Amino acid sequence: TRYVYRFGGGVDDGGKGNKNLLGGKGANLDGMAAIGLPVPPGFTITTEMCTRYYEDGETYPESLKAEVANGIAHIEGVTGKRFGNAADPLLVSVRSGARVSMPGMMDTVLNLGLNDETVEGLAAVSGDARFAWDSYRRFIQMYSDVVLGLDHGKFEEALEIAKEDKGAYLDTELEAADWQALVGEYKRLVETLWGRPFPQDVHEQLWGAIGAVFGSWQSERAKVYRRLNGIPGEWGTAVNVQAMVFGNMGDTSATGVAFTRDPATGENAYYGEYLINAQGEDVVAGIRTPQYLTKAARERAGAKPLSMEEAMPETYAELAQVFQILETHYRDMQDIEFTVQQGKLWMLQTRAGKRTAKAALKIAVDMANEGLITRAEAVARVDAGALDQLLHPTLDPKAPRDVLTKGLPASPGAASGQVVFDAETAERLNELGEAVILVRIETSPEDIHGMHAAKGILTARGGMTSHAAVVARGMGRPCVSGAGAISIDAPSKLLRIGERLLKEGDIITIDGATGEVMAGEVPTVQPELAGDFGTLMEWADEVRRLKVRANAETPLDCRTAREFGAEGIGLCRTEHMFFDAARITAVRQMILADSEAGRREALAKLLPEQRADFTAIFTEMAGLPVTIRLLDPPLHEFLPHEDVDFADVAAAAGVGVDLLKRRAAELHEFNPMLGHRGCRLGVTYPEIYEMQARAIFEAALDVAAASGEAPIPEVMIPLVATKRELELMKDVVDRTAQAVFAERGARVEYLVGTMIELPRAALMAGEIAQVGEFFSFGTNDLTQTTIGISRDDAGRFLTQYVDKGIFTRDPFVSLDVEGVGQLIGLAAERGRATRAGIKLGICGEHGGDPASIAFCEETGLDYVSASPYRVPIARLAAAQAAL
Ligand code: PEP
Ligand code: MG
Repeated sequence: TRYVYRFGGGVDDGGKGNKNLLGGKGANLDGMAAIGLPVPPGFTITTEMCTRYYEDGETYPESLKAEVANGIAHIEGVTGKRFGNAADPLLVSVRSGARVSMPGMMDTVLNLGLNDETVEGLAAVSGDARFAWDSYRRFIQMYSDVVLGLDHGKFEEALEIAKEDKGAYLDTELEAADWQALVGEYKRLVETLWGRPFPQDVHEQLWGAIGAVFGSWQSERAKVYRRLNGIPGEWGTAVNVQAMVFGNMGDTSATGVAFTRDPATGENAYYGEYLINAQGEDVVAGIRTPQYLTKAARERAGAKPLSMEEAMPETYAELAQVFQILETHYRDMQDIEFTVQQGKLWMLQTRAGKRTAKAALKIAVDMANEGLITRAEAVARVDAGALDQLLHPTLDPKAPRDVLTKGLPASPGAASGQVVFDAETAERLNELGEAVILVRIETSPEDIHGMHAAKGILTARGGMTSHAAVVARGMGRPCVSGAGAISIDAPSKLLRIGERLLKEGDIITIDGATGEVMAGEVPTVQPELAGDFGTLMEWADEVRRLKVRANAETPLDCRTAREFGAEGIGLCRTEHMFFDAARITAVRQMILADSEAGRREALAKLLPEQRADFTAIFTEMAGLPVTIRLLDPPLHEFLPHEDVDFADVAAAAGVGVDLLKRRAAELHEFNPMLGHRGCRLGVTYPEIYEMQARAIFEAALDVAAASGEAPIPEVMIPLVATKRELELMKDVVDRTAQAVFAERGARVEYLVGTMIELPRAALMAGEIAQVGEFFSFGTNDLTQTTIGISRDDAGRFLTQYVDKGIFTRDPFVSLDVEGVGQLIGLAAERGRATRAGIKLGICGEHGGDPASIAFCEETGLDYVSASPYRVPIARLAAAQAAL
């Protein structure tokens, strides 16, 4: 097997831009070189090598040495420089690169190949001793950090001391001799901290860096990132070794990062940042605040320092042309790293750019309209789960704002929460259900878990492409970065903004769309759903087969659901209607009654209320199917649980406190989820279901008469385990329907069906379908009863189950396709065998989860039903599943 693939200088080993083999970075370097773009020559050690390295107990096969040597020889041939040559040394960068970009992995090592001898050579050929010694100290600093694992704080301290000694404020004020002295200091530090001198042999340096990249694949950070993003451990990372080019060789040199379209808004305009006379990490690390790429962006921001377009017009024009070529070649928005070395442009990286959901939507729609991609591709491109970001509220523009300061609008959305200063506190408070805003000087991969736990992120330093900004956009967290006016005192947990002093726990609001930071909580408003969103949804609807309904039980939820495109109600839970303050007393009287007559009397009070509920819902959903589920929860849920409430409740219900207490005790269950609930209530108190059925049919007839359009009620019986239960309940519903139709002299179409939410029901689906006219999979209960874990209590251990790889994802969020999925498949098959074309849907939480929706498509269900805000996600996911 070949483990090394060369690129650049017209050499091509046939890597064919294969991401799985070369990693994302390697594949795209290979791809850019192949289409003739200026890429410094280099080679990629494959991901297969990484996998083999771990299989073989962290050792390399004998053949790798020669392959790497051959790779180095290739770079030497193209550049005319020799690795380790004291007169004119070849320097390389070593970078990791997995199939997908992983901010949790090893960073880059630059300037590898410098030692006490080659630094002199570099000084001589470049004619710039300052540059050479600065490069050497950067190399020692990076290598010590990422390869040797030494405390980088110590190196920064030494740099600060060197600056202080000199009375310097900026790095640029230090001269060759200062850097040379610092190199001496750094080498002493390495000896002390590592116990060995800094490696002078350039080959030892190279193999050290290669080993560090492979080693970083199993670092804690990388593992956390993989877990959060569902990236398999077997993928491995590639190693990219490439000739160095320098953006820090004076004022005709520069380095930058750019997006071919705006990653925050999706606007079709180049977007980027660059720094003159700097190396790549200066831009990303947020140490110097970078300048704008384009004149338009600079002017819009009212910034002074010249944009690249203005400062280096010719190189900028060349870069813009490369942007065009890359977008056409990769047919997607690209995120690019480039360096200009003494006027010559070099491309160091390109990849599909991370973008906000808003930008993803706009870019997909624009590119389809530009003819760059098809509509189907546009539909496939937008991450359905990420639409969530767009469907949630933004700050109310009319609400007063106590603006503390303004930073960069790094990732959109608004969030309020308590100020916290470290990732651990963010995580701890989040687990307690508190909303927090993580406030940091800048973020690093070690903060990822805290960023995940936070509702939003605020940083004092760093640009739009800083770590904080990139990661926050990827996670869909609002982020304001580079808020220079804030000063953070992390040890004493204080945040100073101008005159204002905030402490940990104080509430702030950040607006990632404007960069504003506000004191207190600012109210929010609903999002805009027309424009690109509407267009993409239309395209999705053209290809989707699954219908999408909503779980809703109030007229307002129904309206929201319709606005989001719901094609009916898949689950109307009627118990919520019983909790209404005006009705709960009648509900309690019904529960407390000791005879059927008593219960009927209380139910008669509820009938007009229920009828009004259904009338409102049918009116809202005119012409669409509405599935109404009859009462499901155990009755004790409607009685008070706290001693203090008993007296009031008893008085309101017109009974004695003793009776109330006795009845509450009688209804107490050790296992209420497996107790007297669902159709078991209907079996023991048929008059409850009878009242609900009457309310449904009377409302349906009222709406049909008033609007001329008859609704199609689908009456659903919960928690059925046997055919006989369903038979009994269907009989109650049918008899009630006949009675109402006779009284009114009019009728409506309706169906009676059941939820499949118990394993027995799934197994007996063939028999149950003899009675049930439709099935709706209640996957919340079906997951609970199939796995035997409580949907209410499992949160306490489920995170550990996911951490330990027992489940890939929380089975209450994303369907356990392997296990629970089998029961669904089996029930669907058996149900159809009995009743051809039986209508099948899903109404558990999984109905709004893209991965679960893909399973529903495969199983051939007719519809999914999700909460109103997830309806658009479901529409898009259903379309993607059908592609
Ligand atoms: C279910 O069990 O999946 C369901 C939709 O019903 P509920 O969540 O109301 O128990
Ligand atoms: Mg249920």
